Amino acid sequence: MSARNVGLPDPHPSPGLPARVTIWEVGARDGLQNEPVVLGARVKAEFLDRLAAAGLRVLEATSFAHPRWVPQLADATELLGLLTPRQGVRYPVLVPNERGLDRALAAGVTEIAIFASATDSFARRNLNRDLKKQFAMFAPVLRRAKASVLGVRGYVSMCFGDPWEGAVPIEQVVDIGRRLLDLGCDQLSLGDTIGVATPGQVAAVLEGFGRADVGIDALAVHFHDTYGQALSNTLTALRAGVSCVDASAGGLGGCPYAGSATGNLATEDLVWMLEGLGIEHGVDLDALVATSVWMAGQLGRPSPSRVVHALSS
Ligand code: MG
Repeated sequence: MSARNVGLPDPHPSPGLPARVTIWEVGARDGLQNEPVVLGARVKAEFLDRLAAAGLRVLEATSFAHPRWVPQLADATELLGLLTPRQGVRYPVLVPNERGLDRALAAGVTEIAIFASATDSFARRNLNRDLKKQFAMFAPVLRRAKASVLGVRGYVSMCFGDPWEGAVPIEQVVDIGRRLLDLGCDQLSLGDTIGVATPGQVAAVLEGFGRADVGIDALAVHFHDTYGQALSNTLTALRAGVSCVDASAGGLGGCPYAGSATGNLATEDLVWMLEGLGIEHGVDLDALVATSVWMAGQLGRPSPSRVVHALSS
């Protein structure tokens, strides 16, 4: 047997899967906002630049949340000023409300994301309003974003379970998502915020959206690996036709509601599976792993990603 590159799995395509998957890289925003260490803007800019150089094309860069609530990302405007524009690379930002939108527009962004809740308990704790009243906060943001021709993604958190309420009815998740699309969101990201989803449930939620006439192209998935289910859930979503998957380089982010070091699905773990399935992803895995090893050094803790561990040890 001749020596070969062991840095990638052999491709074994499987029928019924998308030919290409867009990875929505959330490490710089969802990842870093949930890390205890606060990094400087130049380190974040280097992180984003390295991720772009590794082939990632959608990089959620930061959040315009109030600095008091998310001190890790208080430098959003400064960071965006440090980014090097690259052909074909998008830098969406999270915008929680109109004040955040003002700041995002002043910084010249072209794409935003809003953050909604599928449950009343999380809406009250995270958004300070009940399940229905959250839309009154989003409506003017959506209206003004559309007037400025911004792309808008709607995060729907707690779609598969809520730490205070337990199970979340599928009809409720679909109703919240449907309303966000009606308000003007271009895409929904269905979040398993506490990482409890399992594959049958993922299929059932996606079928629920199908029954509500939401096209599968309008749906992305956002899984957490807290209970080791993120890749199984992702594969189930791919089989249902989803072709946009959220992931965080190196698995950055922990799990804010479970006290676990394992939070967001690691981009490297996702890339390994996509490569093995022969699905186009555009990422240079070695460059990505090197970036996550470097970032782990900045944060002073090892990456929880299995693939980062396997390829860097
Ligand atoms: Mg997340």
